[in-house]
Amino acid sequence: MIKIGITGGIGCGKSTVCRLFQERGIAVYDSDAEAKRLMTENELLREAIKAYFGEEIYREGSLDRKALAARVFSDGEALAALNALVHPAVMRDFGQWAERQQGDYVVLESAILFEAGLEGHVDHTIAVMAPLELRIERAAQRDGCDREAIRRRIAVQMSDDEVASRADYVLVNILREELAPEVDHLDRAFRHEAEVERQKRGKCLPHEEVN
Ligand code: ATP
Repeated sequence: MIKIGITGGIGCGKSTVCRLFQERGIAVYDSDAEAKRLMTENELLREAIKAYFGEEIYREGSLDRKALAARVFSDGEALAALNALVHPAVMRDFGQWAERQQGDYVVLESAILFEAGLEGHVDHTIAVMAPLELRIERAAQRDGCDREAIRRRIAVQMSDDEVASRADYVLVNILREELAPEVDHLDRAFRHEAEVERQKRGKCLPHEEVN
């Protein structure tokens, strides 16, 4: 199964692009949402988080997200420890999830694909980009929060230039109507790659069967 990672900063349009892939029949793994789920549901991860942050970080089985956020906000070491627990658990879950999917390829959505070093878990990466002011405008409208707060969140993310330089493909998300043809183009390329892989495996089969 070919795996595609989609990344980009706040308000650039990752989820919008992922929805377009979903409309084309592609399964999407939302790593942010799945990380939240795993921190509650995955027993090993839960125990590891308790071991580092204390039993009281869970209340009646629910993670006290506010307390956890407060701890990691002011303590870089604690943040690194949390990431070192959560990212591997999410990538294991993503790998198992991908195995269960049908279709030519799957998509992993992650705002921190490169920051968290997750790019090794996917075959290709796509950076979604949009002009800064447009991102701020879109995120402010969507979340109903003030622009300065969004600007501050963007300031601590990896720069657009760096994300773009690391990605295999860059999708510029300005006009909605221009996005769909770009996604179609990539969709065709990934399906073609999957077909080539299938043909290669088909050619290998008789040889493998002989052995
Ligand atoms: P975040 O990382 O902050 O969750 P994101 O990268 O997933 O953001 P989206 O949620 O896809 O970004 O987009 C942010 C907002 O901008 C949404 O309300 C979305 O509907 C809107 N939006 C995205 N792309 C476009 C576009 N091309 N034209 C108009 N609005 C758009």
